[in-house]
This record gives sequence, C-alpha cells and structure tokens, in this order.
Amino acid sequence: MGRKELTKVYEPAAAETRWYQYWLDQGFFRAADRSAKKPFSIVIPPPNVTGMLHMGHALNNVLQDICVRYKRMQGYNALWMPGMDHAGIATQNVVEQELAKEGLTRHDLGREKFIERVWEWKAKYGGVIIHQLKRLGCSCDWERERFTMDEGLSRAVREVFVRLYNDGLIYQGDYIVNWCPRCRTAISDLEVEYRQEAGHLWSIRYPFVEGEGGIVVATTRPETMLGDTAVAVNPNDGRYRELIGREVILPLMNRRIPVIADDYVTMEFGSGAVKITPASDPNDFAMALRHRLEIIRIMDDNAVINKNGGNYEGQDRYECRRNVVRDLEAGGYLTGTEPYAHNIGQCYRCKTDIEPAVSRQWFVKIAPLVREATAAVVTGKTRLVPPTWEATYFEWMNNIRDWCISRQIWWGHRIPVWNCEGCGKTIVASSDPDRCPDCGSAELRQEEDVLDTWFSSGLWPFSTLGWPERTEALRTFYPTSLLVTGFDILFFWVARMMMMGLYVMKEVPFYDVYLHALVRDEHGEKMSKSKGNSIDPLEMMDRFGTDAFRFTLAAFTAQGRDVRMSEERIEGYKYFINKIWNATRFSMMNLGDFSVDTVIPRKDESIADRWIRARLNRTVAEVIRGLDEYRFNDATAAVYQFIWHEFCDWYLELVKPVLYGKEDAAAVRAAQKTLSDVLRTSLKLLHPFMPFLTEEIWQTLVADGSSIMVSEFPAPDETASDPDAEREMALIMEVITRIRNIRGEMNIAPSLKLKATLAVPAADLLPTLEKGRVTITNLANLESLTITNETMEPKGAATAVAGPVRVYVFLAGVIDIAGEESRLQKELARVGKDLAFISGKLANPQFLAKAAEAVVRKEREKARELGEKQAALEAARKRLAALASD
Ligand SMILES: [Zn+2]
Ligand SMILES: [Zn+2]
Repeated sequence: MGRKELTKVYEPAAAETRWYQYWLDQGFFRAADRSAKKPFSIVIPPPNVTGMLHMGHALNNVLQDICVRYKRMQGYNALWMPGMDHAGIATQNVVEQELAKEGLTRHDLGREKFIERVWEWKAKYGGVIIHQLKRLGCSCDWERERFTMDEGLSRAVREVFVRLYNDGLIYQGDYIVNWCPRCRTAISDLEVEYRQEAGHLWSIRYPFVEGEGGIVVATTRPETMLGDTAVAVNPNDGRYRELIGREVILPLMNRRIPVIADDYVTMEFGSGAVKITPASDPNDFAMALRHRLEIIRIMDDNAVINKNGGNYEGQDRYECRRNVVRDLEAGGYLTGTEPYAHNIGQCYRCKTDIEPAVSRQWFVKIAPLVREATAAVVTGKTRLVPPTWEATYFEWMNNIRDWCISRQIWWGHRIPVWNCEGCGKTIVASSDPDRCPDCGSAELRQEEDVLDTWFSSGLWPFSTLGWPERTEALRTFYPTSLLVTGFDILFFWVARMMMMGLYVMKEVPFYDVYLHALVRDEHGEKMSKSKGNSIDPLEMMDRFGTDAFRFTLAAFTAQGRDVRMSEERIEGYKYFINKIWNATRFSMMNLGDFSVDTVIPRKDESIADRWIRARLNRTVAEVIRGLDEYRFNDATAAVYQFIWHEFCDWYLELVKPVLYGKEDAAAVRAAQKTLSDVLRTSLKLLHPFMPFLTEEIWQTLVADGSSIMVSEFPAPDETASDPDAEREMALIMEVITRIRNIRGEMNIAPSLKLKATLAVPAADLLPTLEKGRVTITNLANLESLTITNETMEPKGAATAVAGPVRVYVFLAGVIDIAGEESRLQKELARVGKDLAFISGKLANPQFLAKAAEAVVRKEREKARELGEKQAALEAARKRLAALASD
C-alpha cells in the first residue's frame, strides 16, 4: 500500500474548517454526564452576548482549550461548558442606540416591547463571538451552551434570590450609589472610571447665625451646597474648637445648619472646614448617618435640580453651578477661586459624569458570605494561581461593602418581589404569584428593578450544570476543576462565584483558579484602537493560521507578567509550523515501507537514536510539568526547543547519512522506527497548542482513521532515559558546532571540505569521539579527521575548545590570509562608522527629548547589534593574526 503524502505546503484555512467540522461530527467535544473516567471540568467565562472577539478573549479561551484538550488526551471525561452573558447595561445600550436611530427611546416602547426588541436583537446579531471562538479551535461541548437569561438559569436566579431573602441576607435600604444620569441606573463602584479634570476650588463663607463673621468652606462642586445640612471640622483643630455646636446660615438657601466635629475631616484641606452634603457624596452620607443629619436630595434622576433646590429648580447641574457661583459672588459670599485638578467619576459605559445619589436599593449582606469564601482560599480548598493574587483577594474580602444588586434598567432578571396593592404585603417568590396569600388580592405589583448582571454570572458554575435540579451533570462536574480568567475580574466575578457557590452548593465552585495577565503590545503598552497598536485576532488567524496564533499566545503567557504580543511574534511561529511540516515531509519520504509494528532490537539503535529518545522523554516530562502547573510558556518552550533545535536541526541531519546510505539495513530500520516514534509523540505534545496542524499531519502520517485529538497524551518513559547517550552526543554536537563557527567566522564556504584534528588529554573520551567520527565528518563537512590524545600546537590551524577537547581546523592554504584581512578591515571600518553615528544620536539630549519612545528603542537596539558585530569581527581578526604569525 502506498503511503499517503503531505501536500507541499500547509494550508491552514482549509485544514481548520475541515478538522473542526470533523471533530464536531465525531462528537469529540462531548462530555458524558455519567462516565467511568475521572471528570475534568471548566466553565467558560461567559462572553457578553454583544461581544466581538478581541485579544483578551483569544488569550483566555486558547488557554482553556489547551487545558481541556490536554486533560481529554490524558483520559479524563473532560467538559468545557460554554455559554454567554446577557450583559445588562451593555446590551440595553446597544439596543437603545438602535432605537435612537429611529428617533425613539426605550420609554416610547415601554418595558415589554423594549425587552422583545432586545431578544430580537440577540437572535439577529448576538452571539457572533461564539462563531469566533469556534475559529480559535475551542473544543467546548456546544450542545450544552447556556445563556444567563435562558429559562433554567432564570429559575436558578430566582431560587437563589428567594433563599438569600429568606435567610435574611437580602434587604432594601437607602444608600448612596453611583448614579449615571444618562443610563438612569445605579452602577457599582467597580464600574466607575476616573478621569482627571482641571477644575476649581471655590471658597465660600457661611455667616454665623449670631454675631459677626463666619466660617469658610472649600468645594469643587459649589452647586451641591443647595443640599448642605452641616459644616464639619476636625475635633482636634484648634482654630475651630470654639465654633463646634454653633450654627451658620446656608447662603442662597437661608437655611440654618450646625457646625459639627468629625474625625473624618482633614485639617490640611482648604480651610479645614468642609460643607456636608449627604445626598451627593458617599463620605458625607456616612457622616450624616453618624450624626443623624437630614439628607436632602436636590437633583432628580436626570441630574436636574428638583424643588429642593429653591430658585435653581429645573436647571441642569452644570448650569446650576455657573448660576450658584455668580449669585455667591454677587452676595459677597465667595472668598476665593483657584485652579484645582481633581478626579471625576464617569460611567464606564457611556462616559457621563457620575452623580452620587441617595436612593432605595436592594442589597446582599456580604459579611456572612465572605467568611467561607475567604476560608476556602486560606485552607487551599481553592487555589489561586499565581498565588500572589491571594493577598489581593484577602484584602478585598476584608474591606468589602454590602453588594448593591439592583439596577434601574429593563434588560435583566427582574427582582422577584411583589407588593400587594390590597394590604401592602411584600411577596418574595420563585414563581410569579397570582394572588396575595394574606388578603387574596390579585393586584400585585412587581419590583421594577433588575438584578446586577454579576448576580446571575455568580451562579454560573452550578446553574449551567442544571441547578436547582439535582442533575447527573452537577454530581459529576461540580466542583469544577479549573477556572481560567483575567485577573481584572477577580472581584467582579471570581469572588462572587466563590460566595454563591459555597452558600448554595456548600462546596467551592472550583479547585484551581488560574488568573492570567492582560494582553499588551510588544513594548508593554496597553492595546487600543486610537494608539494604533491593537491586534485583531481574526486578522491574525487569516494571515498566519490559527495554530501559529494560539502557540504565540501560550508562549508569551508567563505567570505574573503581561502577555506581550506583536505580529512579528505570531509570524515567527508560522515559520515553526513550516519547519514541522517540512520535517514531517522529509520523514515520510524516508520511512519507505516501514511499519510501526516493527520491533527494533535495542542494540541496533545508534547513539543519535538513543539520544533523541532520551531528549524527547525529558521534553514529555517538561511539557506535562508546565501544563500541570499552568506554566504555559515553559510547556511551549520545551516542545519548541525540542522540535526545532534537537529534532529538526540535529537529529534529522544526523540520520540523513544513515537513511541515504542504506548499506546497514538494521541501522536504517532503527532510524525509521525512531523517526516515526519521535514524530508521533511530538505531534501529541503539540496537539493542545496546535490542534489543526497536528490533526492534518496525523491523518496523513498515521492514516488509520484515528484522530490525534482523542489519542493518548505521552507519559514519561523510564526506559527511554539515557544519560550516557545525552552526554556523548552533547560532546559530539559541541565539536561540530565549534568547527562550524570557525567556518563562519573565517568566511569559509560551507562546501569547502576541511581538515581537522581533535585532541583530548584523557584517553577515556577517545571511544566517544570515535563513535562520533562519521557524524562529525559528515556534519562539519571534513575531508579528514584525526582524533588523538597527544598534546599538540599545530601551525596554521584555527583553534577552539569543546569542553575537554581541543579542536584544530587547518586553514593554511585554505584561505587567502591577506584577502581576508583586508575584507575584515573594510567590514570593521563600515560597522565602526555606523556605530559612531548612532551613538552620537543617542548621546544627543535633543534627539532623546524629541524622538518617539519607539524610535529611540529601535536606535538602541541597532547600536547593540552593531556592537556585537564589531566584537565578532575583532575576534575573527585576532584569529587571523594568530594564523599569520604561525
Ligand atoms: Zn451611563
Ligand atoms: Zn394582600
């Protein structure tokens, strides 16, 4: 039977479509609810339904796919649970923007119609990212795909809400929240972005009710004074001790407010006295609770002044600010204005300035949930990787405030609370009630707010497995084995899953949490469209193939470091793919009629065969260690180094003479067997990183209808370990390298055959060198090789040292010493001139000040390269001088 052949070049696009469909058809991504195999499970961090694949997603999902493919090959019943998040505000915004194009707002449609529109939008445009994940090669069990708003997950949300409520862990309260007047909803502290603004600090005098004078307060937001209910000073501030307890008149409003003392006030800020506006500032709100101050809201939900703002009613907050300043000035209350830079919070969605506001919200009492979530990490039940994140986790857990879970939007899980119009009873239920259980009234009004989107994603590890049903899947796969996520959502999401998982399931949601860094450009800068340094994953896959892209992501994922990406890096791994492809083509052409079942006696194996098997065995162990410890860069480095440098660069060269020679049939068969085994094992090691390429090769190379995806992952094999072969080959390879270096430095054509002598002081190395004689002669392209243990200083020879071996390459008569000398001189002069020019530039402060950072970096890099070149040329010249003096 004729052996199948690989095409001349690898065509990623065709292979990717073909094999992904094949894996789907074969059902290889499916996990079994019930299985004799050990379970391994990962839940995907659900991308937003509005999401488009960016580098962050690509990294996150490639790492998960590597882990799940690895475990699947190791024989686990591996589940990668996919799904999407409804992403409350984000999605509502997209649909609102669509409506705006038709000149409509969501209020024109009303709640029900608007939600219908969102579902329509989802059906039509949502979930693009799922197709993009398939292009990445993600081996999710797609038949299980879930959505945080689907029926089952909605049930889970209600069920958990009711449980928390009945346990007294959910309450309603007045609270100061970050209010977005554009989105008209409260948003969490973590959803506020800060920008610096060059604003002003205004000093305002509040006159005493009795007597002369007054007290001066400083503020960056004078319009909020309309809602002031006190002036506060520090109790230790000598300047004000006498004034505590007195009253001042609030200008423009003519209201009497007290001067109070509170430790929170900083004596150094402004005058040391501050105005207190409980409804507009979280610290003032806290102070109001401590001192039982009145809380006056002066703005409505659109940040327009309401009736509590006196004459300013109906004015927008910025218009009001101008008018208040004008009126204060006119009234003689304004004592100073100075420029002042300060931070302003903005809505992360729409960039509108946040208006802190007091409103009625729903909360989860966090303290009782935090205890176990903290303990689980302390005891190691859940392991954070890298462990440096533990400190951050604990610190956050210790300082966490109650969780505000209500959002004033429409798209999301509506809070399952009803108020009876008849008797006022509050009904909290997991299914919609028809009547009030107390008075029988059917007039029930459901709470308008929806839940924070993180409430439903907090249940993700068990809700996706079927909870509240007690499903087989839940029994098999919960707690999940691993969560892979960006460190930026450790708090938003991971901590909440920990709390919810422990509360509902009484078990941690995952054993390992691997937190990866963010993707940045090659210089460590954040990627952004405006900076022009962002990379589009889809474009990278089109240009270089998905496998090169995947491998690069893994190769640059080191624990605790940013993932630095560039197109060149991805392109570099495309060459790696070409290398593997060509090595396989070469191997397949030389396997002849060899069959895998052929048994080779150990004695037929050459030292090269024994060496490559030993090296492969070490590589297997390194890849396994790398993957088990989530050191993706170590795992990829091991397999890359082995395939490129040891297998392709050395082993293939070492066996060529054997295979081409054909005189020793046993040696040929041993080489074929080694080639075939090493290739198969290498492909398996590579599969989690490069699923498409490896399948394409496997299906041609192995050609028995099996898939590499479900083959067995290699395990270390003690019988392959061979330190003697490794030591001996290392010496032979070093000798060859030294001779090649001399050739390179002296500018000797590779085709020119040379004479060399190897001198070793100790006779015990002679057998090793003798074993390597043919190899050295072939690979260093020698005319003759002398091996001796006599000490010698031959004339006309270039010298090098390879461990204990002295290497002499005879050059007299081989090279034209004078000609070479003049060539080196010219080279040195040219390099020297270039280097002087660049050094001059880099020493010029004007250049350094004006040039872009990237340009300077490039020049420094050039200078470094030229310096190295100069040193190499100098070395060659010395060597030449030594030859000439012989
Ligand atoms: Zn907003
Ligand atoms: Zn009732």
